[in-house]
Amino acid sequence: MNQTCYLCSSTENKPVFNENGILIVKCKSCGHVFSTYEQAEHYDGYWGEGNDDYDLDWWDHAHRAIYTEFISNFMQKDSGTILDVGCGLGFFVKMVKDKKPNWHAIGFEMSEPAVKFAKEKNGLTTVYPGMVQSSGIGKGSIDIITLWDVIEHIPKPQPLLEYLYSLLKPGGILFLQTPNVPIQLIKANLKVALKGMKPDVHYLEAKDHINDYSRKTLSMLGAQTGFQSTQYYVLTPILSFAGSKSSLGKIGKMLFYYFTKLIWIVSFKTIMINNTLFAIMKK
Ligand SMILES: [Zn+2]
Repeated sequence: MNQTCYLCSSTENKPVFNENGILIVKCKSCGHVFSTYEQAEHYDGYWGEGNDDYDLDWWDHAHRAIYTEFISNFMQKDSGTILDVGCGLGFFVKMVKDKKPNWHAIGFEMSEPAVKFAKEKNGLTTVYPGMVQSSGIGKGSIDIITLWDVIEHIPKPQPLLEYLYSLLKPGGILFLQTPNVPIQLIKANLKVALKGMKPDVHYLEAKDHINDYSRKTLSMLGAQTGFQSTQYYVLTPILSFAGSKSSLGKIGKMLFYYFTKLIWIVSFKTIMINNTLFAIMKK
């Protein structure tokens, strides 16, 4: 069990959740929330052994709205270079290529089976297996870097972010999507209060999500690794389109999203009750 805070190295913490025996703790010094589960630093088992048994409804359909919103909000220049780190099956890189053909889009992914899918099924030629740190990409050559649901999986995120910072052009941006821990904790506690702790439920995904960020702690990480500023956005939620049974759930989710957006705006961007953080770190 790891007890050392990944952001400030303090070993003083208090438990905030117990996920089937794995403690999630909050650092008493800086307030960072992290799982005490010791995950390998470069874990690549997330995508399985390449049996192509991927949930495409989730990885493709459910992400289309947010990818579209990202591209229209943050890729307004006619051309540039964008790097997607932890690109998974390549659906984001593919959408960039389709919508912004003058941009050069590159993907990196630790999982060989996922890269194989990206190449063979999504027809991508600029998606590479392995660690981005060994890519040889030129310093100061990238306009935008994206980390979709990646940062929470990495135990010690500073070396990666410092490296990505070095790849960005001056004024370039790093975009991160990650769960918003204060809200995730409320949801997890509610689930347990209503239904009891179930062994097969992933409340905070204690074995996969090693670092659980809030706006405060994600901004701390950005400052530690050299970024000028970290700004937050309320963007379209990731929606699953599975069957008619969940379409009511989908409508509910959209209504909740409009409500969260309203709260965010009327509170002058101070109150965020969304599940997910969308952050832009600026070089
Ligand atoms: Zn700390």
